[in-house]
Amino acid sequence: MKRVAILGSTGSIGRNALDIISAHRDRFRVTVLTAGSNVALLDKQMETFAPDVVAVADKESEKELKRRIGKKRALGSKILSGQDGIAAAAAYEGSDFVLSAIVGAAGLIPTLAAVHSGKTIGLANKEALVMAGKILMSESKKCRSTIIPVDSEHSAIFQCIEGQRKSAIRTIILTASGGPFAERRRADMNEITPEEALNHPRWKMGKKITIDSATLMNKGFEVIEAHHLFGLPHQNIEVVIHPQSIVHSIVEFKDRSCLAQLSVPDMKGPIAYALTYPHRIDNIMDGLSLHEIGTLTFKKPKKDFFPCLSYAYQALETGGTMSSVLNAANEVAVNTFLKGIIRFTEIPLIIRETMGDHSVSPDTELQAVLEADRWARKTAERVVKTLS
Ligand code: NAD
Ligand code: MG
Repeated sequence: MKRVAILGSTGSIGRNALDIISAHRDRFRVTVLTAGSNVALLDKQMETFAPDVVAVADKESEKELKRRIGKKRALGSKILSGQDGIAAAAAYEGSDFVLSAIVGAAGLIPTLAAVHSGKTIGLANKEALVMAGKILMSESKKCRSTIIPVDSEHSAIFQCIEGQRKSAIRTIILTASGGPFAERRRADMNEITPEEALNHPRWKMGKKITIDSATLMNKGFEVIEAHHLFGLPHQNIEVVIHPQSIVHSIVEFKDRSCLAQLSVPDMKGPIAYALTYPHRIDNIMDGLSLHEIGTLTFKKPKKDFFPCLSYAYQALETGGTMSSVLNAANEVAVNTFLKGIIRFTEIPLIIRETMGDHSVSPDTELQAVLEADRWARKTAERVVKTLS
């Protein structure tokens, strides 16, 4: 029995994980569930999985959750709230495995708390690595906490390098579907609405990562994520557009031999692999019919159309707190785009201006990373005001 905590249980990754657990109750027990403010769904999940601890983002959601539960489960789960409450839930001593699937910077402190408690982490919350990759990786070594990637590309690489020597790896090639606008003309990019951008051709995901996929910021984040997880310099991490999303990533070795991992696009695959590593569960996904798919295509990303990808490489090259600034500026830009305040093409502009104003500090201390995050949010909001 693996005792599993799910941070972000009401999200797309969280719900997929609970589907897997529901179908394999003999292997897993849910110990912890955390959510932002979707207490209606959290309440249902509590009824199904009876966790020991739950946590929500703020006091208001805690009150609402307690009101819903009423007396029906008076002696049931312990209920916590706020960032400290979620961090305490992440570190709960009754769990073996923590699925880190909160979206955005809000996932960093809880993920770090899980690392400090020495647990095995299934990491979906890539923003935590973008902000504080150096700290998370060094703390995980210190605390003997294993980080297993859940992002499909990084899960692919993790699977391809199993049993290989690290020194034999030459290049990591991340595949990208290209999002809904890969074939758009530049002139038409200005008019893209949130509804269009939320319509991803291959993957059904949360709103923020769907917008990040449309700008290719998501792929930029994944370059930074790969750098920290696999210890390669940015010069050895490439991106290729592969619209079918069948090849999930490729590792090229020193002898120029390449290994790739293939499957239908379904996050249940990488989530289940992280949950059961080094084992695999039968038929987690549908089978792959390559003869039905017929053609797999690959091409170079149009970096001038999608500057966010280049900003991620720049952030890595600059080092220090620049990646934290990239992440925070992007969160502000995506939120304002989703509210209809700025244009799609203004997302990269806000990030560029914010990065351009930043005085970089070393990213070895958490305080510096968090301070850069706060500074970047304020600066990006000022840039938004100059646009609208
Ligand atoms: P989502 O928006 O569907 O879910 C996010 C979860 O985080 C929800 O449970 C929400 O309640 C919770 N949350 C949001 N703000 C919070 C806060 N301030 N405090 C506490 N909890 C909060 O997102 P998702 O698509 O499931 O993605 C989750 C993470 O996984 C992201 O970092 C994303 O980049 C990564 N990821 C997702 C996919 C995917 O297919 N969805 C694939 C790869 C990586
Ligand atoms: Mg991915």
